[in-house]
Amino acid sequence: MLLHSGETLRRSAYAVLEGDAPESARGPGILYLTTQRLVFEAADRRIGRGRAPVTLMDAALAQVRNVAVRRSRIGHDRLLVELTMGRPVFDVLDPPAWTTAIAAAKRAGPPASGGAALAPTVIERQVVKVRCRYCGSLANEVDGRCPRCGASL
Ligand SMILES: [Zn+2]
Repeated sequence: MLLHSGETLRRSAYAVLEGDAPESARGPGILYLTTQRLVFEAADRRIGRGRAPVTLMDAALAQVRNVAVRRSRIGHDRLLVELTMGRPVFDVLDPPAWTTAIAAAKRAGPPASGGAALAPTVIERQVVKVRCRYCGSLANEVDGRCPRCGASL
């Protein structure tokens, strides 16, 4: 899973792709939600291809029409994703948390480029004055030496 520039990961979990996915694409993998996309990667199980992860779904959040929890009378609930190009169903832990997170990511949209950034933080350093033991002048503690007589503070 490679993130684009300016993209950050919001959530990821082990998931099993089911439902409308083609037979060859069904199976376990990792579901990723970023600030820009919903991605599902699975290990390629075809012979001779090793275990390199294969991207089975890479949808921009704009392509996500809706997300829902599909209740199941037997077994546990599923995460149903309605894309412009299909309706994959994921068996993932806590589907309601995923629907909430995906909806929130969609609302937030891609982060503004060029940085409508945070206000810069100004840290004011506090300078402590100390009185020299030898000549009585005030000196900055951080300087370590008296500016008048040179004695160490
Ligand atoms: Zn001094």
